[in-house]
Amino acid sequence: MESFYTIQGEGYYQGKAAYFIRLGGCDVGCVWCDVKDSWDASRHPQQSIDEIVSAAAAYPGRMAVITGGEPLMHNLDTLTAALHEAGFQTNIETSGSSPLSGEWDWICLSPKKFKFPLPEILPLAHELKVVIFNKSDFAWAEKYAAQVSPTCKLYLAPEWDKSKEMTPLLIEYIKENPQWELSLQIHKYINVP
Ligand code: SF4
Repeated sequence: MESFYTIQGEGYYQGKAAYFIRLGGCDVGCVWCDVKDSWDASRHPQQSIDEIVSAAAAYPGRMAVITGGEPLMHNLDTLTAALHEAGFQTNIETSGSSPLSGEWDWICLSPKKFKFPLPEILPLAHELKVVIFNKSDFAWAEKYAAQVSPTCKLYLAPEWDKSKEMTPLLIEYIKENPQWELSLQIHKYINVP
């Protein structure tokens, strides 16, 4: 769908330079999705893996973030092997709702209520990022926190349009449950892609 060099605005690598590769196609259907244009893969031009990797390599950063859409709707073995070959760290942002493919240095799992993650991806996640849209989502976040590995980083993120209302609740929750950290979409605050 698009690719761009920016800083990672969320989660463990927040603030780091990263080349984002956003793949078209998503069958999850989150009501609050902010990239609905990504859902229909056929609306976006196909690019070869060589073109994608060469464009990424034109910048000095060597962290690639594959996102979507739901990137695991595609088999990512060849793309991630080519990125590794070119010296990139490979990170993915996924709902985990399609089978895992690809060679990953970092898996950020963001489970969605609209299509659940497959159980086999949960122990492989390096980072669990749960979007909080309403109060019941805290219990939902704990359900998944209980299924990831003990070393997995835990993040709660307010849904953007409800962030004014939800962020104070997140802060109180994290103070009571300090295994969680707050993840803000800082790229939206500083107005970068
Ligand atoms: S998984 Fe991501 S791209 Fe797909 S609908 Fe949900 S927020 Fe949008």
